[in-house]
Amino acid sequence: MNLKSGDLVMPGDFLGIIEQYEPGAGTFDDNGHIKSSILGNVTLDSKNRKVSVTPLTGAPVLLECGDLVYGQITDVRSQRALIDVQTKKDETRQLALPYLAAIHVSQVKNDYLDRLTDAFRIGDIVGGKVSRISGDNIDLNTEDEECGVIKAMCTRCRDYLQPTGRKDEMICPSCGKKEKRKISSNYRY
Ligand SMILES: [Zn+2]
Repeated sequence: MNLKSGDLVMPGDFLGIIEQYEPGAGTFDDNGHIKSSILGNVTLDSKNRKVSVTPLTGAPVLLECGDLVYGQITDVRSQRALIDVQTKKDETRQLALPYLAAIHVSQVKNDYLDRLTDAFRIGDIVGGKVSRISGDNIDLNTEDEECGVIKAMCTRCRDYLQPTGRKDEMICPSCGKKEKRKISSNYRY
């Protein structure tokens, strides 16, 4: 990993060696390895050979309708899939709340969807647009092309699935199992 100024780092993350940098605020020296002591944004000052970490600034991020967020599917019921929302697109600050999101079966795609398990499975990483907010509960919509599953694992062997090229169809490169998903145009494999 190539660390650069502005990157988000977590406590214990390796930032450099003592021969490279002097450990500054928000860092500590662990036997010559400089590590972050906080969650924040790193500053690499190569002129003064100093590394520091600034705590995440400003008000933590509150979500608004229309925001694109990413999270992990924690449950798939008959009418709703539940998502533990982790980040907002292009955002380095942390979310203000541990948002819990739901996607209703009618909000998944433009076409008719018979069963929610044909779109999402537990553990999938998905992107969705915020359509309703009520405190720390939000509703997501995944009808847009860029929304849907961006990372999915085979339910049989847990290897990462790959799109077959057919609509909503994925295949496991290890065991050959075919599965259905609502696949995002940003699917990563
Ligand atoms: Zn498999």
